[in-house]
This record gives sequence, structure tokens and C-alpha cells, in this order.
Amino acid sequence: MDPLLKDAAERASRYLEGLPTRSVAPSREGLQGLDRLDTPLPEAGEDPGAVLSLLDEYGSPGTVATAGGRYFGFVIGSALPAALAANWLAGAWNQNVALEVMSPAAARLERVALRWMRDLLGLPPTAEGAFVTGDTMANFAGLAAARHALLKARGWDVATKGLFGAPPFPVVVSEEVHVSVLKALSMVGLGRERVLRVPVDDQGRMRPEELPRLDGPALVCVQAGNVNTGAVDPVGEICEKVRPTGSWVHVDGAFGLWAGACPSRAHLTEGVSSADSWAVDGHKWLNVPYDSGTVFVRDGGHLRSAMTGGSVAYLPTDAKPEGMEYAPEMSRRARGVDAWAALRSLGRAGVADLVDRSCRHARRLADRMREGGHRILNDVVLNQVLVDFGSAERTRRVIDAVQQDGTCWCGGTEWRGVHAMRISVSSWATRAEDVERCADAILRVASD
Ligand SMILES: *Cc1c(COP(=O)(O)O)cnc(C)c1O
Repeated sequence: MDPLLKDAAERASRYLEGLPTRSVAPSREGLQGLDRLDTPLPEAGEDPGAVLSLLDEYGSPGTVATAGGRYFGFVIGSALPAALAANWLAGAWNQNVALEVMSPAAARLERVALRWMRDLLGLPPTAEGAFVTGDTMANFAGLAAARHALLKARGWDVATKGLFGAPPFPVVVSEEVHVSVLKALSMVGLGRERVLRVPVDDQGRMRPEELPRLDGPALVCVQAGNVNTGAVDPVGEICEKVRPTGSWVHVDGAFGLWAGACPSRAHLTEGVSSADSWAVDGHKWLNVPYDSGTVFVRDGGHLRSAMTGGSVAYLPTDAKPEGMEYAPEMSRRARGVDAWAALRSLGRAGVADLVDRSCRHARRLADRMREGGHRILNDVVLNQVLVDFGSAERTRRVIDAVQQDGTCWCGGTEWRGVHAMRISVSSWATRAEDVERCADAILRVASD
């Protein structure tokens, strides 16, 4: 294996070293090369070195340079050096974190990483959690725990009896709910259309005074980090309002929850610790490799009850909590290893700096756009910037031209009826020079 793994490491290094000088979007030739990988399944196997070489030669040029510092589309992180290297080592380990007996190292690292994250994000010290594939699955797991708890309080064991015949409860979301929460609601059988939608303010924050009157326990889904504006719902106030009803508050905090790990931004997420469950991404702002998200639940017993499948002869029967009892999956890769390495390499100060730096870059980009005569549609409180180039048509043309230009990559969105360019700064690799170079490119393209 030795020459093969060294070849892989060299190719990966070359790829990363090429990012500063390549177009962020793949070139036309780069895309055409993908046809070379799209062949009928060969009858005879091929040499692993030749397989790797094909991947690099025709796969690498067809990628988008999201691992570099000039990608501002969606909310996409890069991979920190320590996290990427740990991910490779963990790949070689190939451990399964379903059961501790399968991998004491992976189980321990996952527990430590969860503890560090819980602490950094300011969540209750009793909260328990699990690593899942991303924020959508973290929402799914959090909502499943909520469903379990709310129905258990009504004397209904949903894990064994299912939802048929269960007493209904209201589900409250905001008008700005992320589609992944709606997807998770549909997957846990709560329905994405029977929700009550609460109006929002001009930054997309749920307005607590507009919450519906609740006569009993409800599931209330709030958001930390609006994908357009970066704004955070007033979670503490909402929790206080609904607490007397016995409701469960779930926070979709894919990237915004990380504000809590940064002293200069922690005021934004004040009060989130009053909620009952939280979903957060690792592959966005923590900059660990895909796919990595985390669910936390204040009373971990509800998560465990919701994620347990029952007893099987060959599985351990002792009371010790096992990884697979807290996650939707049984077998899972050891995502905690990447997160552990990222957090250990950054430390508390490094995480705070990563968040703070991204926010400062976002603000600088907003200032540059404003100085160029373009309108910024949001209060730039976090890492998200919305730019209006004058009309929907013009903004669309600027976004297309920016993507073609290749200096950076930004996508489009609709904000309160205005078509906007969305800039999200989420990568550890973005440097001040990148910000200036990208701002120059956007302004040049816009003035053309
Ligand atoms: C990205 C995001 C999601 C979905 O997360 P995945 O990791 O893609 O599953 C959900 N909610 C918010 C607010 C997000 O930003």
C-alpha cells in the first residue's frame, strides 16, 4: 500500500497547492474530462495506482475549488489541515463507531469531541449527542427525540407503537424555516405542511410576539443563522414564552450556533442554551471534511429512546450507552476523529478566531460592494452578505459573470422579493488578500 498512499498524498497536495491559481468553477475542458470516468464497468480489475491516476487526471479538474479560500457559495466550509490529515488516518483505521467494542479509540474521541463542542457552543453540560452526516440528519435526530418526549408525556410510546393513533401536537416554525427542517419534519412523520408559521422581522428572525397561542405542549423549531442574512432567532425569549406549555424547542443552528464559540459574536446566540435540542454542522464553519454534523439533546435519554432499535442477541445488553443508540445509523464512520483533530489544532482561541475572521471578511466584502455603489440588503452581523446590483436582471447577469470569471464563486438568492447575490464566508482558507482580489473581481464584472 505504501507507494499508493504516498502517491495519493502527493496528488492531494498538488491539488491543494493548485487552488490559488485555478478558476474556482471547473473549466469547460475540466467538465468534459469527466466523460473519461463514465465508462461501462470493466470486466477485469485495474491496478489501484492506475485507478487513482485516472481519478486525479479527470476527476480533479471537474471539481469546484470549495477547498480553497475564494468560494463563497451556499454555506460551505473547507477542511482544516489537521482535520483533513486526521480524516486520512481515520480512513486507514476504518473504524466503526456503532459499538465501543468495535473501536475504543473512535468511541473515546467521539465522546471527547462532543464534550468540547458542547462546551464551546455554550450548551448545557448535561446535553448528550451524536455525530451524524450533516445538519439535516441532526435536525432529523433532534426532532425524533422531541417527538418521542412530547408523546411520552402524553402516555404514548411512539418508538414501539408508531404515529398511527398518537395524540397530535402542534409544530411551530418561522416563515424563514430552512428546507432541511421541513424535510426532517416530513421524515419523522410530523408533516411539512401542517406546521404553524410565525412571521419574521426584516432580518428573518422569528417574532416572539407573533407566536400562536399554545394550549399545550408543542414542538417549536427555531433557527440560529439564517442562510440569507445570518440572523439568529431570539431563542431565549422564545423558550421563556413557550416553557409554561411544556413545549420542546429545537434549534437549527447549522452554522450560526458557532457564533457562541466566539466572544465577539456570542451575544447573537445568547439564550440558545435554554432550548431542548440543537443541530449543528461540522462541515460548514468548523471546517472538517464532509460529511459531518452533530445533534445535541438536553435530556439525552430522549435521543437514546428515539434512536434505539430494541435488543438483538449478538449486541451487548449492558446499560453502557453505545454510539449506535444515539444516532440514526448503526454502522458509522468515525466522524469524531476529524472534529477532535480540528478542535485540538485550533483550541478555543483558534475556533473563536476562525469565526471572527470569517465575519470580518464578510463585513469587508460588504463595505467594498457598498463603496462600489451596490446595495447591501442585510445587517452583516455574521458571515452572510446579500448584494443587490440594481435589478433582478442585472444581479442575475452579475452572478453568472462572476461564476464564469472564476476568481470567486457566489450564488443567488431571493430576499424579501429582491433577487440578490449571496456571499458566505465559511472557509478557514480565506485570507484578507483573497477578499480584496474577489471584491475587485466582482466590482470589475459588475461595472462591465
Ligand atoms: C446548511 C444548512 C442546513 C442543512 O445542512 P446540511 O449539512 O446540508 O444537511 C440546515 N439549516 C441551515 C440553517 C443551514 O445553513
